[in-house]
Amino acid sequence: MAAITFIGLGNMGGPMASNLVKAGHDVTVFDLSEDAVAALVSEGAKTAETAHEAAKGAECVITMLPAGKHVEAVYLGEDGLLAALPKNTLVIDSSTVSPETARGVAEQATDRDIPFLDAPVSGGVAGAKAGTLTFICGGAEDTFAQAKPILEAVGKNIFHAGDHGAGQVAKICNNMLLAILMAGTSEALALGVKNGLDPAVLSEVMKQSSGGNWALNVYNPWPGVMETAPASRGYEGGFLVNLMNKDLGLAFDNAVKNHASIPMGALARNLFQLHAGQGNGTLDFSSIQRLYKPE
Ligand code: NAD
Repeated sequence: MAAITFIGLGNMGGPMASNLVKAGHDVTVFDLSEDAVAALVSEGAKTAETAHEAAKGAECVITMLPAGKHVEAVYLGEDGLLAALPKNTLVIDSSTVSPETARGVAEQATDRDIPFLDAPVSGGVAGAKAGTLTFICGGAEDTFAQAKPILEAVGKNIFHAGDHGAGQVAKICNNMLLAILMAGTSEALALGVKNGLDPAVLSEVMKQSSGGNWALNVYNPWPGVMETAPASRGYEGGFLVNLMNKDLGLAFDNAVKNHASIPMGALARNLFQLHAGQGNGTLDFSSIQRLYKPE
């Protein structure tokens, strides 16, 4: 079992740290939110006054922060963790950030002989709680091998996508596709209902036909079709429209930098931006259905 410092105990990081405690690791946590820290301490984690103190003696540091600027603030600069961590401390960043941010942190870590892995996740809050997240890692092969047993306490599928930044590239591609398929599924359901079809019947037909997809299988956007989906609880909880917009922004920026065409991704980004602009930013992203079916 390892001495692990976990920084960023939000919707995702809280349950991830909790699973590391349950797996028997020696976990020290830090977050700007005292309530988030207190919840983990009540489950058996230790804490400290600052991120630096929390990281003292750690064999592995894991971060789960909102965006690139938070990751850079925690790791880089004279006051950053990289300047203080001993050589060979394993550092894993699971936040979703741009590949450039991941590569920038990785470069400075490598300069200090600190093995670094970008390891964004898929699977949402439910996956974080159940310990079934998918980790998509970027970094050296031996760093991946070192991190895998730790990540297995939190996730089910642990992929090595390639070198530094590759985890973030794969994550961006996946979430762009997710946005496109959720908007497309919502559109198809709305068209069927306009024609008098029962959305549950249409969903079942499409699930068993060539339009079948993840949204229809586990995350139906039409209210009432799937009891366990956010659509059936007013689109509360789940994966927020604001976070999807962040990820679509990362995909868009990446496409511009790489001269790649993403017409479907750009359209999805505009749809989700419009939706957020109408006051839906803190709803689950499947609420894009409301653009097609005003309630
Ligand atoms: P969140 O906003 O719920 O949690 C972020 C936490 O980081 C907060 O508790 C905040 O206090 C803490 N924090 C911010 N700056 C800090 C600092 N300098 N030091 C210590 N703590 C700090 O976000 P989340 O939903 O847990 O998402 C975290 C990351 O995971 C994001 O990059 C997100 O895109 C990604 N992600 C989220 C989901 C999801 O369904 N929520 C799914 C996959 C990936």
